Amino acid sequence: MFFRVYPWSLKQCLSVETRYRAAWIVPISSSPISGGIVVVANGRVAAVGEYDGTAAEDLGNVAILPGLVNAHTHLELSWMRDRVPPSDSMPKWAAQLMALRRTVSAEPVAPIVDAVAEARRAGTCLIGDVTNTFATFEPLLDSEISAVLFRELIGFSAGDPEALVAQAGRQIAELTPIEWLRPCLVPHAPYSVSPALLQAIGKANRGKPLSVHLGESAQETQFLNDGSGEWRALLESLGAWNPSWTPPACGPVEYVEQLGLVDRHFIAVHGVQFTDEDLARLQRVSASVVACPRSNKWTGAGEPPIDRFYGSGVRVGVGTDSLASVEDLNLFAELAEMRRLAPGVPAARLLRSATLDGAEALGFAGDFGSIEPGKLAQLIAVRLPGDVPDVEEYLVGGVEPADVMWLDA
Ligand SMILES: [Zn+2]
Repeated sequence: MFFRVYPWSLKQCLSVETRYRAAWIVPISSSPISGGIVVVANGRVAAVGEYDGTAAEDLGNVAILPGLVNAHTHLELSWMRDRVPPSDSMPKWAAQLMALRRTVSAEPVAPIVDAVAEARRAGTCLIGDVTNTFATFEPLLDSEISAVLFRELIGFSAGDPEALVAQAGRQIAELTPIEWLRPCLVPHAPYSVSPALLQAIGKANRGKPLSVHLGESAQETQFLNDGSGEWRALLESLGAWNPSWTPPACGPVEYVEQLGLVDRHFIAVHGVQFTDEDLARLQRVSASVVACPRSNKWTGAGEPPIDRFYGSGVRVGVGTDSLASVEDLNLFAELAEMRRLAPGVPAARLLRSATLDGAEALGFAGDFGSIEPGKLAQLIAVRLPGDVPDVEEYLVGGVEPADVMWLDA
């Protein structure tokens, strides 16, 4: 295992100061700068602004931007790449995934290592990684990627929620404490976690990011309304149905809000089915929604209302979801799908979602998400094809990993 003090490269740590000049600097927290400069010292951004004529390493026709934030994936499912076919019904897709997962006793590690490297090559510096096993902890530790590790609990008929939470808490306590890998406890979804377990997780995880799959499929809305439908059938087939459960007959956000889960640390992943009221409830408390549109297409959940996400004023992050439901871990490809679904949303807003909004949602905005003095110099340069009239629009049009370089590489 390679020991990392913080995700600083050796080159950056050894050099007192490096000055990078490029065709464009995209700080995210301010407007793009044509022909700008970024000054890096001791692994952090020292300055950013107009080129001042002093000596600098000229990177040429590239755009320098902060590393991207993939706010939702499941790296441990990487071995399922191309093994769970697309579906028109999310419960049917999930049943296929569960059947496949039962064929292994542990998550294979090599595909996780490959996936971490793939995410890095595509410009990712920070990940919100959902895990049931912490199989991803060591591969992430050996990488330059920082992460929130969402230890996910599942149990719709769980007998002793407090004991489940305590057991997961002990797992977390056994991990080596690492500043840039932050474990916390999260529930899977409202149709797979009992109200008592949802409440227990919320209580135990207070003050930390809490992500949950929410408002994903139409079948989830049906299930919360009257307890019927494909999710109910799946729970019954698994022997996990709880006959004493009473459907809340309300929207998904209101449901988890009643159970004490929704505050500024709350991250609602997917939101394909969200109404304006769901979004307003999140926006009121500065919670976040994370869009994973390519996965939604794959699983049959549908198209997320990207326009309404932004119209509501809620913080919007972006995630690829796992390789079981997406072609790759390239967040630029996810942005291109968001652009396709919401051509009217300003490119600057989409870029902010893939950087600063994601970092804020994951509680890492002090170090990541924008090019500002004091933040970590986890910066990428994206090769531009000749003259680009609108650099932000270009960056949300789909960028291939081959055109992404790390400044510290
Ligand atoms: Zn997910």
